[in-house]
Amino acid sequence: MEDSIVITQADQALLRRAIAIAAHAVTIGDAPYGSLLADESGSILIEEHNTVRRDNDITAHPELKLARWAARELAPEAAAQTTMYTSCQPCPMCTGGIVRSGLGRVVYALSADQLIELNPSSAWPTVTQDGPALFDEARVPIDEYYRPGHDNLLSPSRPCYGRGTRVLCGFSGLLYRLTGWTWLSLRLRWIPARSRLAGVRGF
Ligand SMILES: [Zn+2]
Repeated sequence: MEDSIVITQADQALLRRAIAIAAHAVTIGDAPYGSLLADESGSILIEEHNTVRRDNDITAHPELKLARWAARELAPEAAAQTTMYTSCQPCPMCTGGIVRSGLGRVVYALSADQLIELNPSSAWPTVTQDGPALFDEARVPIDEYYRPGHDNLLSPSRPCYGRGTRVLCGFSGLLYRLTGWTWLSLRLRWIPARSRLAGVRGF
């Protein structure tokens, strides 16, 4: 697998910036993890560091903060063009957020194994998960939410995705309610569903 890894000089420059963010975090009493999100041209869009201790929040990893920011603020096409540079390989929690947010690529410095070698307490404990169970009961809210005709994706008050396209989503939901014009509403519904909601973000 090593042969397939392509990290360019430009990648290394941005990785060094992520490492510098991690180093700065240490100087202000936070954990030593830093990340940034860069656009297609390599311009930095946003930087974050780990504030788990400061915020008393186990989810305050920089990678997850950036993924949440991208999901809120970027159109799907723009998010797909971004690259996350991070001082350590994203943990399983952040990896989930990164996948849901539709980022294009992640470049990391230390691997998870290397980090554990340096700090064994970084290893993730396992948690027992028992299931599946109660299928007939548990499927009821699922079936209700996803049944045809349920207004689960088009509520105008619900942020659908990036700022620029939220207007379309709200408008399409209003149109759907007002006209009941099935063909048009399905066409409008399909745009966000195909590009993001039903696919990458999996609501
Ligand atoms: Zn994480």
